[in-house]
Amino acid sequence: MARRGLLLILSSPSGAGKSTMARRLMDWDTTLKFSVSATTRKARPGEEHGVHYWFHDHDGFRAIVDQGGMLEHAEVFGNFYGSPRAPVEAAMAEGRDTLFDVDWQGGQQIRNSALGRDAVSVFILPPSIAELDSRLRGRGQDSEEVIAGRMAKSRDEISHWAEYDYVLVNDDQDDCFERLRAIITAERLKRERQPDLAGFVRGLNEEFAAR
Ligand code: ADP
Ligand code: 5GP
Repeated sequence: MARRGLLLILSSPSGAGKSTMARRLMDWDTTLKFSVSATTRKARPGEEHGVHYWFHDHDGFRAIVDQGGMLEHAEVFGNFYGSPRAPVEAAMAEGRDTLFDVDWQGGQQIRNSALGRDAVSVFILPPSIAELDSRLRGRGQDSEEVIAGRMAKSRDEISHWAEYDYVLVNDDQDDCFERLRAIITAERLKRERQPDLAGFVRGLNEEFAAR
């Protein structure tokens, strides 16, 4: 049966595990489309243009914003980030779900956009601040200065937890993933996301009548 696509927004303080959850979701369901964000930040080792991010300079990024090409955009850690609009609209037209890894500003803007009624937002909390700090360090990607900046931003990010539809504490990774999967499965079954249901039930009634 056809289904209306949903916009699945994942936010968390940096290091709480949203990229890990996003990767697991993409492996679980290959029909999910990941919204590859545009950013003005420099690529980290191993990051590929068009796979992890679309890397732009300031002028290039600004030009896309000015043309209305971003569904949302925001400044995070001194760089600009934004979700390109066209791939999201294409996915919606195909009845496919799009997964967003965005900060609270992105979450707010998507919820308030014309596509907001199809948004489902999930906030991921760390089990403790000590664990958040240790995960950021364990990732081994950032300098001491960058880690300090991310920890300072975490407090601000966490303050927006109550704006989200669902909140998960990412203690055990497998448990957290199971709960996230349950959210998506249930959201997909909502009546309004199944446009063919009325026709299906009409068919059941015709079958009744023919007995
Ligand atoms: P984010 O995308 O939120 O910044 P990541 O997904 O990159 O966070 O996770 C940060 C680090 O923590 C990674 O090294 C990841 O492997 C690890 N991690 C993620 N979830 C858990 C978990 N539940 N328990 C322990 N480590 C985790
Ligand atoms: P990072 O630089 O570690 O990849 O991401 C830093 C932060 O920017 C994360 O909180 C991430 O969720 C957020 N982010 C990534 N892409 C976007 C985007 O397109 N829009 C917004 N608003 N935030 C984003």
